[in-house]
Amino acid sequence: MCHAFLTDTNFYQLLFQIDESIAEEVGARGCKCGGVLHSARYPRKPRGIRSALDSNYGSRLSFCCSQDGCRRRHTPASVRFLGRKVYLGVIVVLLTALNHGLSEARRRRLIEELDVPLQTLWRWRRCWRAVAGQFIPPIDADTLPGALLERLSGSSLSERLVQLLVLICPVTTSSSSLRVSGNPQNM
Ligand SMILES: [Zn+2]
Repeated sequence: MCHAFLTDTNFYQLLFQIDESIAEEVGARGCKCGGVLHSARYPRKPRGIRSALDSNYGSRLSFCCSQDGCRRRHTPASVRFLGRKVYLGVIVVLLTALNHGLSEARRRRLIEELDVPLQTLWRWRRCWRAVAGQFIPPIDADTLPGALLERLSGSSLSERLVQLLVLICPVTTSSSSLRVSGNPQNM
C-alpha cells in the first residue's frame, strides 16, 4: 500500500528537522517586548503509528518570553502537529487524501487502526480549501487534498506530503506569521 513510508523513521526525522528550522527562526526573532525566548515545549502524545515515532514526537516546540511581566508564548508553526490536536499532520493529510483512493471498508479500517475521528478529518478539509485557493488553475474542492498532492512536484508520495504539510503549517498556529511560498511552477 502507498502509505508504507508511515513506518519509515527517516520521514519523521525529516519532518522534525523542518519543525526545528521553523522554530529556530521564531526563537531568533525574540519577543515583541524585547525579551529573550526560552524553550518551553508542550508535551504531546501523538496518536497512531507509535512504533515509528521517537522521543522527538513527545513534545511540540514552543517558546516562552523570559521577561517578567510578559512571559508571552510563542509557538512556531509545525508540519508535525495540527493545532492543539495530538494527531500528526501527516496522518490526517494522508487519510483525507485516501478518501478518494480507498474503498469505504478499507478506509474505515485504516481510520480505526490509526484512531483518528472522522470529525478531525472533516475539520481539516477546510485547510485544504484554503491552500487550494492559491493554485492556478484552481483545484476542484471535491478532489481535495488528493488533487493537491498530485499538483505538488515531489517525485514520491512522501516528498509531496512533506510539501503539503509545509504549505498548511501556517494554519497550525495563531502566533506565527510564517508564510511558505511554493514553487511558482506549481502555484
Ligand atoms: Zn515578551
